[in-house]
Amino acid sequence: MRTATRHVVAFALASLVLAVVSGEGSGQRPEDTEVWEPEPPVVMPGEAGMPPSDAIILFDGTGLDRWVSVDGGPARWTVVDGAMTVAGGTGNIETREGFGDIQLHIEWRTPEEVAGEGQGRGNSGVFLMGRYELQVLDSYENRTYANGQAGSIYKQHIPLVNASRPPGEWQTYDIVFEGPRFDTDGGLRRPAFMTVFHNGVLIHHRVELAGPTLYRGDPAYEAHADRLPIMLQDHGNPVSYRNIWLREFGGPSR
Ligand code: MG
Repeated sequence: MRTATRHVVAFALASLVLAVVSGEGSGQRPEDTEVWEPEPPVVMPGEAGMPPSDAIILFDGTGLDRWVSVDGGPARWTVVDGAMTVAGGTGNIETREGFGDIQLHIEWRTPEEVAGEGQGRGNSGVFLMGRYELQVLDSYENRTYANGQAGSIYKQHIPLVNASRPPGEWQTYDIVFEGPRFDTDGGLRRPAFMTVFHNGVLIHHRVELAGPTLYRGDPAYEAHADRLPIMLQDHGNPVSYRNIWLREFGGPSR
């Protein structure tokens, strides 16, 4: 093929590819595939982990009025300098309100003064719907079983990486939780899923939960309400929390 002919063929091929990519000749206008409604509501994003304008604030550093003790009565953890801290032995605390599918932001800090080892060092936990635990632990140079370290979905999913900061430093979890769905006869229609960022690093990408968190044995789902409180664990270590907020994004009862 002569050079000029090759150029003509190459040009024709390139034009054809362009026409296919741009949809030319399909009889469709670009605006035929534009979707304008519904328009997403405007939300003012927060600065550096602070809540966006449509968030439900669960703890802003001033008090525990949105929390109660799981054992009954008011939450008895301490609130100092804008943080709440586990008062060992006072029990787990949970939100007064129940939630289903949520985006949850929570900041936590294990004690600067390192005490204990393995599961005994800075242990607490964030329990979605009061039963699905995202582990809180000082996992900075502190080895334990991988499905029990910080960022694990306890005894079910190992985090993709260990993004832990040293003890005494604030850390963040950004969680996307999709609760399970049950049929009216109590059977499981769809399991729960979780996506988690630890200090901005992806550690779980929509992993499927096998059931509620268990210390011993294999989990199995039991039908429960569509919306249940978020629980924080008193594991006896003075772990602190701050800047806790969530956004609901759907679910069967919404
Ligand atoms: Mg724990």
